[in-house]
Amino acid sequence: MQLLLRGGIAVDTDPVRATTADILIDDGRIAAVGTDLAVGADVEVIDAGGMLVLPGFVDTHRHTWQAGIRAIGPDISFAGYLDRVLGRFAPRYRPADVYAGTLAGALECLDAGITTLVDWSHIQHTPDHTAAAVEALRHSGIRAVFGYCSTSPSATVVEEHMGHDLVTMAIAPYGPEIVDEAVALDEWRLAKELDLPVTVHMGGHGAASAERGMDFLVRNGLLNPRTSYVHGNHYTDDALRRIAGSGGALSVSPLVEVELGLGVPVTGRALAAGAPTGLGADTVVSGPGDMFSLMRAAYALERARPNPELTTRDVLHAATAGGARTAGLGGVVGTLGVGRQADVVLLRTDLLGVAPAHDPAGAVVLSADTRAVDTVIVAGRVVKRGGRLLHHDVAKVLTALADSAERLVVPA
Ligand SMILES: [Zn+2]
Repeated sequence: MQLLLRGGIAVDTDPVRATTADILIDDGRIAAVGTDLAVGADVEVIDAGGMLVLPGFVDTHRHTWQAGIRAIGPDISFAGYLDRVLGRFAPRYRPADVYAGTLAGALECLDAGITTLVDWSHIQHTPDHTAAAVEALRHSGIRAVFGYCSTSPSATVVEEHMGHDLVTMAIAPYGPEIVDEAVALDEWRLAKELDLPVTVHMGGHGAASAERGMDFLVRNGLLNPRTSYVHGNHYTDDALRRIAGSGGALSVSPLVEVELGLGVPVTGRALAAGAPTGLGADTVVSGPGDMFSLMRAAYALERARPNPELTTRDVLHAATAGGARTAGLGGVVGTLGVGRQADVVLLRTDLLGVAPAHDPAGAVVLSADTRAVDTVIVAGRVVKRGGRLLHHDVAKVLTALADSAERLVVPA
């Protein structure tokens, strides 16, 4: 089955540039980009006239299970987050709560044009919790990298969920800045045993901790291209170059990092060091869940620094192609390149606040918001059309989320 996105303004991301073009999707992949494309007889056509057509956004770091405790911690510090979220609420999560939060969180992503999600899931109390999280991601229709984080990690539990096309596995170690080095080594050993990528919180807890953590990685030979470092704001430029040299990537959560006191987002320095860099929402407990907010936060914080070099194009790149590389999916998603998976978003420009979109890429970063997300496609499957999510009863999802939230926040 072919799908033709006709007459939109194609905003590609590597490098960022915009042209009026049709996009042909065949068998879940981008088959052609251009004008007067030859199409089969059974082609389905979506009129993209007046819309910006871009690769779906990639969220490189989100604790998706937390959707049910959204906005419960405005103004909290990192200590407050550990105490309230991980100390008080997390232990109350049953598998059903993990499912409700993860499904709502993943649908929230799709609704907002995020087609790939790195779900950093540290709610694995039991194998049933893991199954609930993975099931919710699969059910949502999003492309996800499930970052498995457990205090008692099990290869068997992870192996059970491997082999799915859209939801793939990663190991999410607590890492040497949070747990003992021996425990951290076991976390990396598991990644090696299962041949999985690693996504780890490192470099966000002060300069001394960042240095100690880097020393651990070097000593144990753990710097490698299949690792993304989350919140690495306290890394020196040298450390960032070291990560870049190893092929590793940086995941920046620009808004929550500032809010929780995890340092100044590393976006510009990471890019200057040559490391693939992506953006992430981190937690909706104290931040927004859409990529427009994250792009603007990353951009504004960087422009506040002396001699800013970061542009809106750099930010759009980080939200798409850079994010894809950070998620370990470079070459798979993140651009409109022929052969890539057809993860595509159509944004309206005929809205107050978006029209007229003189500079298409600039308008995505600075003007558009979730109202503009008209159509969302994942691997060629249309999951949102005409501003409405398909395949899910959103009211039902929200009711389940509310039931879960009620139990989590006001215990019986
Ligand atoms: Zn995090």
